[in-house]
Amino acid sequence: MKIRKKSHSSLITHHSSLSSDKFHDECGVVGVYGHPEAANLAYLGLHALQHRGQEGAGICSSDRKQLYIEKSMGLVADIFSEKRLRRLPGDIAVGHNRYSTAGSSVLKNVQPIMVNFSLGSLAIAHNGNLVNALELRKELEEQGAIFQSTADSEVIVHLIASSKSGRLNERLIDALGKLYGAFSLLLMTEGELFAVRDPYGFRPLSIGKHDGAYVVASETCAFDLIGATYIRDVEPGEMLIINKDGLTSLKPLNAPRHAFCVFEFIYFSRPDSYIFGNLNVNAIRKELGKQLARESHVEVDFVIPVPDSGVPAAIGYAEECRIPFEFGLIRNHYVGRTFIEPQQAIRHFGVKLKLNPVRKLLEGKKILVIDDSIVRGTTSKKIIKMLKEGGGAKEVHLRISSPPTIGPCFYGIDTPTRKELIAATHEIEETRKYITADSLKYLSLEGLLKVVPNPSEYCTACFDNKYPVFSPSEKTEQMELFNYA
Ligand code: AMP
Repeated sequence: MKIRKKSHSSLITHHSSLSSDKFHDECGVVGVYGHPEAANLAYLGLHALQHRGQEGAGICSSDRKQLYIEKSMGLVADIFSEKRLRRLPGDIAVGHNRYSTAGSSVLKNVQPIMVNFSLGSLAIAHNGNLVNALELRKELEEQGAIFQSTADSEVIVHLIASSKSGRLNERLIDALGKLYGAFSLLLMTEGELFAVRDPYGFRPLSIGKHDGAYVVASETCAFDLIGATYIRDVEPGEMLIINKDGLTSLKPLNAPRHAFCVFEFIYFSRPDSYIFGNLNVNAIRKELGKQLARESHVEVDFVIPVPDSGVPAAIGYAEECRIPFEFGLIRNHYVGRTFIEPQQAIRHFGVKLKLNPVRKLLEGKKILVIDDSIVRGTTSKKIIKMLKEGGGAKEVHLRISSPPTIGPCFYGIDTPTRKELIAATHEIEETRKYITADSLKYLSLEGLLKVVPNPSEYCTACFDNKYPVFSPSEKTEQMELFNYA
């Protein structure tokens, strides 16, 4: 998580700590308590959660006497050699995968953040974005705090260190009460592991057991790899304390509603994961595809996905319409997600690096392509050109298994500014022309909410601009901007 620069530009491009596209992060966290191979398990967990962040990763461990930490830029498998993992002894560990745009790629922002303070050592790993990090940081700096990084997670450490309460539990509760926004947080000391989820529950966080040890992870796909059994989600507003006395649950944080991130289902989480009350991501994505088919089918020869993000929805779509499903675009798996690359010039090239059409299949055909979302429109434009020119397709109809993305995410999904979101600034027909599709349809918001169980518990701000939480200093401005009562 990172601090974003305050800009008081126009209200339309919106606002301040929520405004920059440079510093948003998505992340994955994993924690282990009470296993002799804690660091190895954390490593495997991070491996399974690699899709949540590819910029850097770190693991902190404890042998009950002291904390040890290893972290670097890069991918989990490249960072952690056997030798490095051996430098992480003990039976408690916390790991973190960091995702961020290149502008803020520096080692000092890679987590876990480890510090020594009056009560000993602690390390934290954070997934989610705080919306009041900048204000908190300013206050803390005025009180004399010196920050090492630009990560807003460091604010949490300072709040704990400067709390007037006595024991760590109380200090942590004190600090958490000052945070606004999204946090699925793991914190460890020499002898304890804490797992906390913000009261809105924006980001997923689950707890499992393995060989008598507790395991906590952003997504259950991490449990599958290490052979852990899912117990339950860490509840919104819950703080779990795991120590020699076992597991204690406190509920120190409250919010007026839940706001699970619906985009975790649409794009971000892995399809094999179960999140937000044990719902399978693949099953939801398939249902989104079916709903999309019910809303906007057109006669074509077959359906193809944009791999990998469009695959489950395309299968659902084809099933619903009883038309063939084909792989018309082949993905090279050895390049990173093109979205991470910051410059438009590189991004254009990136799609070609990643995908190639199967001409034999596509030539002269009417095809329907499914992707999960359109952000800037760059990917879709390239893909349609590729299908028509490289693949020889006669007609290309694009279907998107989410509603138009009209608002940036302030809670931890990497999105550009509002003015860069093509659906925020263009009518659908204008977008269709720009990307040169023969037709373009998105899933309706109503359709999305039909598929997701208990829809009122979800954050859909990127599709309807209804932001569940603002930083206190920006609340009035934001409520006016988004026409809140
Ligand atoms: P764009 O080219 O900007 O329209 O990006 C759309 C593509 O990016 C789609 O293929 C999505 O699967 C993918 N995408 C959407 N949101 C994100 C995100 N937050 N991080 C990375 N990729 C994304």
